[in-house]
Amino acid sequence: MAIDVRALSRTFHGHGRVCRALDGIDLTIADGEMVALIGPSGSGKSTLLRHIAGLVPGDHGDISIDGHAVLRAGRLARGIRRARACTGMIFQQFNLVGRMSVLGNVAVGMLYKVPLWRSLLGWFTLSERRQAMEALHRVGMSIYASQRASTLSGGQQQRTAIARAMVQGARTILGDEPIASLDPVSSRQVMETLARLNREDRITVVVSLHQVDAAMTYCPRAIAMREGRIVFDGPSGELTPAVLCRIYGAGAAAALVAPPSDPAESTFPAVPTRASLPNLEPVLA
Ligand code: ADP
Ligand code: MG
Repeated sequence: MAIDVRALSRTFHGHGRVCRALDGIDLTIADGEMVALIGPSGSGKSTLLRHIAGLVPGDHGDISIDGHAVLRAGRLARGIRRARACTGMIFQQFNLVGRMSVLGNVAVGMLYKVPLWRSLLGWFTLSERRQAMEALHRVGMSIYASQRASTLSGGQQQRTAIARAMVQGARTILGDEPIASLDPVSSRQVMETLARLNREDRITVVVSLHQVDAAMTYCPRAIAMREGRIVFDGPSGELTPAVLCRIYGAGAAAALVAPPSDPAESTFPAVPTRASLPNLEPVLA
């Protein structure tokens, strides 16, 4: 089992109001699943992902990833580093170091294995750079390796962030609205990259999305939240207009129902597979 969440609650207090951001979440995600997290803005998607990633303590509940404890009775578990090491997180705003090269940004994912001083100086061994280069190749970004990250388009930055999660050795990738600020073609490339890693490397993927059609196209399972609770958990093909009404409310649901787009109609070159990996020696020399 990849992710296990039990009775997770989180309440925020502020400005004289109490907000139950997470209200008794129970959730199991198996190894190798690709899951969409959907629901209206403010329903608790980001808060749930941040808890699973072990970035914040909760009020109550337990979370484990790949058998490593993240949260125990609401507190960050001892030995959380092990859980964090097998989880990579990507964000709407990519979180790359703009003035660092694309390769350097990816190599930073090896922070868990490389001494801090070396990574700060950008000193990586040939084998570390080769590993970063292979990850970049998998996401179709190896030709940009020496370019500064700030010069990339949004979609290219997000694929670089995915490569960084890969070299980290992440078995689970959590994405908080990873395509929310991308154009449709870049969105599709990012979703196809995640789907390919899920398919070929059996990486577990959980992404929050506000595009229901993307959820239906790429994620066999959808989990929908509303007001801090799970209101739907099942095959994304069962997200019928009636179900979407329950999730988003009648007005919003009508606008969200769109036929799933067919990935086969894709107009851009496919992301390279592991099998097509070229000889990288000349690039690294
Ligand atoms: P979503 O990602 O689905 O839009 P969030 O998880 O960001 O939802 O937020 C869920 C609820 O928790 C919202 O009502 C939000 O205002 C509240 N919330 C989230 N983070 C904080 C915080 N740090 N302080 C106070 N309220 C918060
Ligand atoms: Mg959010």
